[in-house]
Amino acid sequence: MAQAYDVIVIGVGAMGGSAVWHLARRGVRVLGIEQFDIGHDRGSSHGATRLIRRAYFEHPDYVPLVDRAYALWEELERACSRKLLHRCGLMLAGKPDGPMIAGVERAAREHKLAIESVPPAEWAGRLPVFRIDPAMRVLFEADAGFLEVENCVRAHVQLARERGATVLTGQRVLDWSAEGGVRVTTGDGTFCAKHLILCGGAWMGQLLQAMNLPLAIRRKVVVWFAAQDERFAHAKGCPVFGFETDDRGFYYGFPAIDALGVKVSDHAGGEHTATADILDREVRPEDEAPLRRFVERYTPSLGRSVTKRSVCMYTMTPDEHFILDRHPQHPNVFLACGFSGHGFKFAPVIGQTIADWITEGCTNHPVDFLRLRRASLQ
Ligand SMILES: Cc1cc2nc3c(=O)[nH]c(=O)nc-3n(C[C@H](O)[C@H](O)[C@H](O)COP(=O)(O)OP(=O)(O)OC[C@H]3O[C@@H](n4cnc5c(N)ncnc54)[C@H](O)[C@@H]3O)c2cc1C
Repeated sequence: MAQAYDVIVIGVGAMGGSAVWHLARRGVRVLGIEQFDIGHDRGSSHGATRLIRRAYFEHPDYVPLVDRAYALWEELERACSRKLLHRCGLMLAGKPDGPMIAGVERAAREHKLAIESVPPAEWAGRLPVFRIDPAMRVLFEADAGFLEVENCVRAHVQLARERGATVLTGQRVLDWSAEGGVRVTTGDGTFCAKHLILCGGAWMGQLLQAMNLPLAIRRKVVVWFAAQDERFAHAKGCPVFGFETDDRGFYYGFPAIDALGVKVSDHAGGEHTATADILDREVRPEDEAPLRRFVERYTPSLGRSVTKRSVCMYTMTPDEHFILDRHPQHPNVFLACGFSGHGFKFAPVIGQTIADWITEGCTNHPVDFLRLRRASLQ
């Protein structure tokens, strides 16, 4: 069968959308295949906002990657003539020796990042909507902020289509093979190409069954609280906020960007789900209870009226670092998965790295620490 495409991308969410754009802009003939629609709410890239921050303590190589991601998000904004990245700042509060606060301070020192340490009493003078224990350390990263998650995905895909990419929606990939060229089968037909990129998010275990990758799906509940106090509004200067709590939770909230109010969730928890297809999308009272307790304790003026509930998925690796590599058996197949609840901000740099590999055979981005050969994946 003739190879109509140079590259097929399976899964057009955050990473697949970016890959499609970075390939199309280099003149590569690319086909993206998505089982739902673009910007849908059934995977890992929905819920209006995603945090972007520079003070990465999880691994030093994330810092240059996030620097590049900031530049690429801005480039995307220029290309699509709309705002996607809002630098409203990030306020973090927690015990001085807790993993988050100590880690952010260490990253700030090592990478010379502008992180401000603000005494809790001084913070109360700036924005008294948070109840901060006097023993907590408060850090403020002014350059952090949020990305409009669905709009980012749509922007990548729209621009890719304008550059000639084909993106099919509502088509689930049922099978793929990569010997003697790539063949991808959906309910509607078979497509051929030279290269394949797998960006299936929480479905990667199913797309890569034979590899048995150690990926675990976590069910994440997100709740919006009506912002009765207008100081929680993005328009009034409220930052993204996060608290490392005594129960080792990391609760966070986004400023109100519309009438839905403040979005709150917990990064640490989340039920294990065997496959993405059987995810329980109903929010139960017991899911909401810890978020309500967090709001009552740390943001008491927010109010208790819930305007929206949503369920999302984290796809976790054992070390919580992403997987970005060639398939070990098929040099023409690339994998981008296991984004472990913190990958969205990196989407443009992931797409660019894959485009580098396909068009140049190598990349300048420091992504070796994300390779499959690391010990924690064996
Ligand atoms: C609640 C929550 C909060 C988060 N907060 C942050 C944050 O603040 N900052 C941050 O940087 N990151 C955050 N993340 C993580 C980030 O959103 C994810 O890591 C990222 O969006 C994952 O992108 P992805 O492309 O891997 O998955 P997705 O965007 O889900 O894309 C995978 C796509 O593949 C498609 N697909 C799968 N199988 C098939 C198939 N067989 N055929 C066709 N299509 C298929 C799916 O339908 C889906 O569209 C958060 C995640 C969640 C859930």
